Amino acid sequence: MMKLSEITKVYGNGSLQVPVLHGIDLNVEDGEFIAIMGPSGSGKSTLMNIIGFLDYPTAGTFELNGENISSAKEKQLANLRNKHIGFVFQQFFLLPRLNAVKNVEAPLIYAGVPKRERTERAKQMLEKVGLGDRVKHLPNQLSGGQKQRVAIARALVNNPTLILADEPTGALDSKTSSQIMELLVQLNKEGKTVIIVTHEEEIAAYTDRIITLKDGKIIDDRRTRP
Ligand code: ADP
Ligand code: MG
Repeated sequence: MMKLSEITKVYGNGSLQVPVLHGIDLNVEDGEFIAIMGPSGSGKSTLMNIIGFLDYPTAGTFELNGENISSAKEKQLANLRNKHIGFVFQQFFLLPRLNAVKNVEAPLIYAGVPKRERTERAKQMLEKVGLGDRVKHLPNQLSGGQKQRVAIARALVNNPTLILADEPTGALDSKTSSQIMELLVQLNKEGKTVIIVTHEEEIAAYTDRIITLKDGKIIDDRRTRP
């Protein structure tokens, strides 16, 4: 599905250059469930942003479904992003003044989906993540785990093939974290490719493949299940 070769990322320019990723080679197949681990500052979020076309690599090649998209322009990348990828973050990033269903339908506004269909799809997604009875709640009326479920429903509403979750359980207690991971396991079983960043072994243990970064290099890449 996705092939990264010799990916390098350097932030800044001139005399203030910060090299962050060095020669990353990574193949991701359809249907994989992957954890990216490694110490703080090792480049995990930078790599996730590049995988999700939120940021450009400085050098290297990127193939998506066999097509080299290394020199694609922002507009094409934005299209790929909207079509293929759902993002989930540690801090949820819900819009505080919008209720759950309006948060979930927000990406569909940009996609030009009519109002009635948007609401219908958003409600379906909230039911899917177990929040069918919370559609009218505002973010501050929801628990941390519920907020993350709303964020996951929002990530799913465009029917993406790939879910990228950067420390999705980083702000949650361990019981709630397990519930969120069970939900991601279920989505992966339904066919979604899922990549998460975590620094907790117990969270990575839910996945099938663990990639470890250190100082911007992949130092370990192992399958934990056949
Ligand atoms: P991780 O997610 O593993 O903690 P990051 O990818 O966020 O690591 O960051 C890797 C390194 O890149 C860190 O040293 C960080 O300070 C630096 N960095 C991240 N974003 C930027 C940026 N926009 N400009 C300059 N340096 C950055
Ligand atoms: Mg990070």
